[in-house]
Amino acid sequence: MLLLLALALQAGVLPEKWMTGGPDCAQTPAWQVHPYNADLLILRQSGCVHYEKPFLYLLFGRERAMLLDTGAGRPGTAAMVEKLRRGLPLVVVHSHGHGDHVAGDGELRALSGVTVMAPGFAEKVELGGRTVEALAIPGHDATSVAFYDQQTGILLTGDSLYPGRLYIQDFPQYLASMQQLLAFAGARPVRHVLGTHIEQSATPFVDYPVRTTYQPAEHRLELGMEHLTELVRELRLMAGKPERKALASFTIYPRPPRNFQHGSTGAQ
Ligand SMILES: [Zn+2]
Ligand SMILES: [Zn+2]
Repeated sequence: MLLLLALALQAGVLPEKWMTGGPDCAQTPAWQVHPYNADLLILRQSGCVHYEKPFLYLLFGRERAMLLDTGAGRPGTAAMVEKLRRGLPLVVVHSHGHGDHVAGDGELRALSGVTVMAPGFAEKVELGGRTVEALAIPGHDATSVAFYDQQTGILLTGDSLYPGRLYIQDFPQYLASMQQLLAFAGARPVRHVLGTHIEQSATPFVDYPVRTTYQPAEHRLELGMEHLTELVRELRLMAGKPERKALASFTIYPRPPRNFQHGSTGAQ
């Protein structure tokens, strides 16, 4: 059953390397736009604009487009997305509500034909011949949501699972969410697990320091079901005693809620 579904997935291409920001910021565009295929664009914000360098996802159906997240700092997302959206109505959803994922909300709201949902929105999105499912996965943040694109089999996990530091605000909640996500994903064909940052280097167990803008040898963006499985296994092994643990492709990073921030700017 899953195998047959997997055969029906639309294929795409991910780059070996992404632009990160620099070494020469004068020569670095503010955004990299990578077509995974004709109907899924992956946008990465330059580290020269904001060190968080988040990834955004723009999916097209026959009737409307969906944007996941809106960038960090002063992103200029609206102007770029306006050029890319093919005149389609656009619904904007979020992986969660941290500052580095919602900074472009205001500018997008000012466009006509754009509906910006509040962070935490976790409902199915129908794009016209394409359905994107949602699953609330609180733990990194109370508003964390995973999205699953039935057309490509891509699972979008936001800051809850990506090659980098998995900051955990609420450990029991995060463990429960990751277990639910594993069950959810296990019942569907998953081609890639894609998050919203890369902080890991290409060297296993080694991450770039917080606020690094130029990452010439970073880990690939894409993770898979084996990483989600590994994450759940490691969280369970902690047996309710959260601790920082570096794994080959990501670091489990429990933090007390009080100083819970990426870096020190209040952005995440
Ligand atoms: Zn983030
Ligand atoms: Zn975050």
